[in-house]
Amino acid sequence: MAQRPGFPIQLGNAQAKKSSSPPKPGSTSRSPMPSTTPHAKRTPPGNAAMRTGEAPNKVSQGLGLDSSAVRQRMVQKLAAQGLQDPHVLQAMGAVERHLFVETALATQAYEDTSLPIGLGQTISKPNVVARMIELLRNGAEGKLGRVLEIGTGCGYQAAVLSHIATEVYSIERLKGLHEKARQNLRHFRLPNVHLLFGDGMLGYPKGAPYAAIICAAGGEQLPQAWLDQLAMGARLVAPMVTQGGQQALMVVDKTPEGFKKTLLEAVHFVPLKSGIS
Ligand code: SAH
Repeated sequence: MAQRPGFPIQLGNAQAKKSSSPPKPGSTSRSPMPSTTPHAKRTPPGNAAMRTGEAPNKVSQGLGLDSSAVRQRMVQKLAAQGLQDPHVLQAMGAVERHLFVETALATQAYEDTSLPIGLGQTISKPNVVARMIELLRNGAEGKLGRVLEIGTGCGYQAAVLSHIATEVYSIERLKGLHEKARQNLRHFRLPNVHLLFGDGMLGYPKGAPYAAIICAAGGEQLPQAWLDQLAMGARLVAPMVTQGGQQALMVVDKTPEGFKKTLLEAVHFVPLKSGIS
């Protein structure tokens, strides 16, 4: 297997410089998660145990969703469906998916189903999230370096990615969802997740080259920017519209001999769109 690049965290200076310069119109409104901000509105009281994966919190929403046992059952199902990468299973078991959906949908958060997140968009099924991240990791030892996610949505997948990558840059084109993700993720205090508002089809050159790029929306063509911003030896995973008009997962490996594309199983994602809104 090709050596995967694992970048040291080397953005320190660049980031400090960037955060002091004004954001580019329509491209970024990035700032690392503040560590002292109060919890998001749906955070139940006494949630320290949830974050650390300790004993279930009895002061939950009364749905038992704060129990890590709920997530472990989901992880067992994922393993039974053939997902094997222990890093991915660990990350899926760690992130509280129910905190990313509306309260009325929270009871369905650990079922293998996609759920609406507003503005006509959806959070992908756990199985699809896990499958794509497993493909992205490609059996790497340890964490990936910088990862670019296109389509932040509610921020769930970005939170999962934060466990398997040193830095996560996640772009969303809908301002409303960008804000929602920021609010959802505040509770998790993930200093390695950087939320960007902009058109993900342009990638995010300032963070390039990336050890991996993952897209959560189905496009007709692979944007050249993504290919350019992949590091040598790195991998891209994205749903693509195929000739029959359906979507399938595509894996692209950037190798010294060129781009190696592999089309995998059929999937169903919201469309990749250009511009911001
Ligand atoms: N990973 C998300 C899934 C969100 S659905 C989650 O965990 O919730 C896909 C998202 O891609 C939608 O929010 C949609 O607005 C966004 N999207 C579509 N085209 C985009 C583009 N060009 N740039 C950035 N985001 C885009």
